[in-house]
Amino acid sequence: MRPTVPYLDESPLARETFARASVLYTDLDGTLVAKGGSVLADAEGAPSVVTAEAIVALNRAGLDVVPVSGRNRLQLRELTQLLGWNAYIAEAGAIIVRGTDLDAEVLLDTGDWPAGMLAEGTTPFAAITASGAYEALTAAFPGRIEHFAPWQLDREVTLLLRGCLDSAEAQAVLDDVEPPIDIVDNGQLRSYGTLTCRDMAPHAYHVVPRGVCKARAIELDLAARGLSREQAVAVGDSATDIEMASAVSAVVLVNNAFDSPGVLSELADRNTDTIFRTRGSRSDGWAEMARFWLTARGV
Ligand SMILES: [Mg+2]
Repeated sequence: MRPTVPYLDESPLARETFARASVLYTDLDGTLVAKGGSVLADAEGAPSVVTAEAIVALNRAGLDVVPVSGRNRLQLRELTQLLGWNAYIAEAGAIIVRGTDLDAEVLLDTGDWPAGMLAEGTTPFAAITASGAYEALTAAFPGRIEHFAPWQLDREVTLLLRGCLDSAEAQAVLDDVEPPIDIVDNGQLRSYGTLTCRDMAPHAYHVVPRGVCKARAIELDLAARGLSREQAVAVGDSATDIEMASAVSAVVLVNNAFDSPGVLSELADRNTDTIFRTRGSRSDGWAEMARFWLTARGV
């Protein structure tokens, strides 16, 4: 059965929830940015200032926006600074940074790994690389998994891969690897790269220390801010983004999320009481969510 998710503008509950929120955790790709990756464009990539105006209005109102993305720390620092924000969560929840200066507070989350598991001077990325996880996946799924070049560079915690995998089958392969790691599906991609699979769309995957995820990173960030879950909302477009619902009071899905089979099955499997949708896709949907938030706050 197709899950029923109310539109923001039809839900009194969404209005009450957004009236209490002072921080928004936002996915980037497929959510904040247009096709092609710009914030100065509508959902289809045609030049538009609608999303930029929404960003400025939130900044002017003093409402905090925190990008949460699979991108690495360097990429997110640039984007965060450019858009006038001051905190971000990189590498799919593994790196939580407050501030964009050199003296920013940085937390690397290694999830459930016990203290002392990482050798001194070693990054989690180096430990996962040395574990043989990538070799195990390429041996088990030939032609179906590869490094997601060039974005796999300059990483500190997660391996970033592109592939056509059944996440549960891939996880079973990684369960034989030490240290304990999880594979996280971070949503659909447009290019197959050098993959030879064509029976499903290519996806981005992160191999992370077991337990690392966007929701856990948001919980850590909210604790550092002294805020409760009731004061936080999130927006995204993938099944992984829906999982942020456990850490915030509402998750908004932009309209294009409903094109993803992974999103539909995630929605079918869970309580959707705190999940809402926009009418617009990508950047247009994000701007719609921002205007709704401002109205709910009485701005
Ligand atoms: Mg996304």
